Amino acid sequence: MANAQTTQLKQLSEPYAGYALTVLNSPHEVLDTLINSAPDASAADIIHAQYQLMLAKAYYNLTYPQKALKHAQLALGFVSEKSQTWLYHQVKVMEAVAFELIGTPMQGLAGLNAAIAWSKQQNDAKLYLQALFSRGIVQTSLADYLAALDDFQQAYALASDNPNELSKAHVAAMLAQVYEYRSEDSVAIPYYEEAVAAHRTHGADLDLSIALFGLGKAHRNTGNIELAISQLEESALLAEKIDDLQGVAYALKELAAINMLQKDYAAAEQKLVKAADIFAQAGNPQMNFNMMVSLGMLALETDNLTQAETYLHSADILLDRQNMPVHSIGFDEIYAGLLFRQGHYQRAYEVLKQAFLNHKKYQSAQSSEQLHELSSRFELQLAQQENKVLSQQNALQQLQLSNKKTLNLQLILLTVFATVVCGLLGIIVMRNKVHKNRLEKLATRDELTDLYNRRHTLALLEQQMSLAARHDKRLCIAMLDLDWFKQINDSYGHVAGDKVLREFAVLCNKSLRESDVVGRIGGEEFLLILSHTASDDAYKVLDNLRLKMVGLSQLAEIPQAEVTISIGIAEYQQDDSLEDFMLLADTALYRAKNNGRDQVVVANRNITVPTDSLP
Ligand code: GH3
Ligand code: MG
Ligand code: MG
Repeated sequence: MANAQTTQLKQLSEPYAGYALTVLNSPHEVLDTLINSAPDASAADIIHAQYQLMLAKAYYNLTYPQKALKHAQLALGFVSEKSQTWLYHQVKVMEAVAFELIGTPMQGLAGLNAAIAWSKQQNDAKLYLQALFSRGIVQTSLADYLAALDDFQQAYALASDNPNELSKAHVAAMLAQVYEYRSEDSVAIPYYEEAVAAHRTHGADLDLSIALFGLGKAHRNTGNIELAISQLEESALLAEKIDDLQGVAYALKELAAINMLQKDYAAAEQKLVKAADIFAQAGNPQMNFNMMVSLGMLALETDNLTQAETYLHSADILLDRQNMPVHSIGFDEIYAGLLFRQGHYQRAYEVLKQAFLNHKKYQSAQSSEQLHELSSRFELQLAQQENKVLSQQNALQQLQLSNKKTLNLQLILLTVFATVVCGLLGIIVMRNKVHKNRLEKLATRDELTDLYNRRHTLALLEQQMSLAARHDKRLCIAMLDLDWFKQINDSYGHVAGDKVLREFAVLCNKSLRESDVVGRIGGEEFLLILSHTASDDAYKVLDNLRLKMVGLSQLAEIPQAEVTISIGIAEYQQDDSLEDFMLLADTALYRAKNNGRDQVVVANRNITVPTDSLP
């Protein structure tokens, strides 16, 4: 590390310790101060790490998921688990909740478990409490409510009443939220009330605004509309006062939902327009989309078709079809409803049919790929959420079949419209602030590099092997492993290491043929499949790739680093099993490493090494 620290931090140093006390209640002020006092590039790593950590916390408290995650990861670039264990776990806990906010809660879980184990062993009560609380948040997002309640209840017992740190009131607010998710609003209410009372006493405006938001919703759900309105309005006012504009927007959204229930459409529209505006400014396209859809539905409800068309058009522009498949399906169905009302029966039918097909595609993608690869509770929960709509649509499909052609189109569309509006209200419009729906990319890709992941790469290799066997074609694989990569992480940080991996993926894609397959099969290990290729040609291609590695450190913005690679090549022979074939390439790679690295070695079938000495 550039400036190694001899002592390990056990608490934040000034001025960061001071910011930590105010970042909960005045994140904006802390953010402004931080932005105006960035440390010198020459400052020690722990200064940079604490600075980035504080930025992450401030952004997190202001609900800027991307920025919170980015700064937590920048902080990780300045500390390693070894050099600064305490600070490292602090940052990992921050990173975990940022992952949660961004919609990939699973990614932070391991870091939290490690922080919990370490702090317990060290008797570090504060870190332990923080990590438990954070894991509760992640479990909530993963819809494992029992696990979440377990963590929160433990945290509640350990928390103090000090309003400047994680207090009982904060934990109570989360307990309330979990009960709300379990549709136990009446159990949630006393916890929310406890949080509201404590935050009010201490003038903790941001927390008070959030707790009032929850309390207002719980009261609405239990039919106490008057109280709900006054609490949501107070929540919006407070959020406005402290410049938490998205907080204002979320409260407006809930108030608009009440207006809609009361059929006060003009008031609802006004609030939704304002909320949409705020989400647009805050760079939150998903919520902006949700607002536009709500506005479109509202216009349909009031028979204002032109207006509906305008709003739905805006929603369509915001819709990222690739990453929001469920939203897309819902949107198409509403849009079909509009077309139907406009008398465009044929187009309505086509849009609807496409939505059915997409739904089927989505379902099968979910069951075959995602459930195996990512069988996280998060995904399962998502599937459950969609179940209601799915079953409605299945029923409709049945109906379509039995009615043949478009004879009963009118009935189908009317039913779809009625049921989908309800379903969508549940799924899209009423979705809770911290409980976001993030769809993982289909599970064939590795997240970091966007290359094929291990499982998919091996599946492709199996295919290629059977093709080569059947048609008697030549086939090579190459096993690639970056040299001394641990040192690169240790010297330049994990973030830089990640960048090297990403740039390497880009380089591979640029240097290889379209038909070659590149997959990331381990941390810094890659497998290449070169079909119709003999080993001497493979050698040329890969030695060329190896030579191009000199430019990589520049691309990864660590020009002083030397990034090299070792490569082992093997050519397929009839009757090789997948394991034999891979072992052969592995053995060649081992020889490349042993001979001094930064080289390509072609497997020799007469040389083998014991498997346990492989790199
Ligand atoms: P060798 O030349 O023998 O391969 O040495 P090495 O340091 O590359 O090998 P080793 O297997 O000991 O270390 C691999 C390192 O790769 C350890 C781990 O920190 C790092 N690594 C694995 N996955 C990732 C990742 O996703 N991002 C980053 N930044 N580093 C990773
Ligand atoms: Mg390795
Ligand atoms: Mg390596």
